[in-house]
Amino acid sequence: MRCPYCGGEMEKGLIQSQYEIAWLPGGDRSVAGRAKFHNGIVLSKLNLLRGSAITAWLCRSCEKVVIDFVGGECDMNG
Ligand SMILES: [Zn+2]
Repeated sequence: MRCPYCGGEMEKGLIQSQYEIAWLPGGDRSVAGRAKFHNGIVLSKLNLLRGSAITAWLCRSCEKVVIDFVGGECDMNG
């Protein structure tokens, strides 16, 4: 994947957690863990055995990470 900021090649990797990984609107921590009730997006559902993980692309030059989400499945399952 090409970095949308500098056009350089990005490195593929994983963001992992022991909890569900979700994007939540705003900066209010009180909505954490309740993404579906707050117009949030679940990036990776929790797998009780493996935790959760989602593929993410890194640009070290721009210090950016880009995440593709597809229906909130865990990327460690496949
Ligand atoms: Zn870049």
